[in-house]
Amino acid sequence: MRCGKTNCRCKAEPPVLHGPYWHWTRTIAGKTQSRTLTAEQADRYQPWFDNARRLRTLLTELEERSLRAFRDAED
Ligand SMILES: [Zn+2]
Repeated sequence: MRCGKTNCRCKAEPPVLHGPYWHWTRTIAGKTQSRTLTAEQADRYQPWFDNARRLRTLLTELEERSLRAFRDAED
């Protein structure tokens, strides 16, 4: 990736590109918020992201089970 800075190493020949970038995206009160993290930050907070992913998976599973239980009881 190239940035907007002139005389940056990413404009050199051969170019030394930036990145890869990690984007931390989440939805807060209906608004998508995004932050770019450095590789070091992404690494440091990886357990948080793993936990968040696990939580979302469990929530989805809970919803599916609830729906199934509801159907079994009501249909
Ligand atoms: Zn650059």
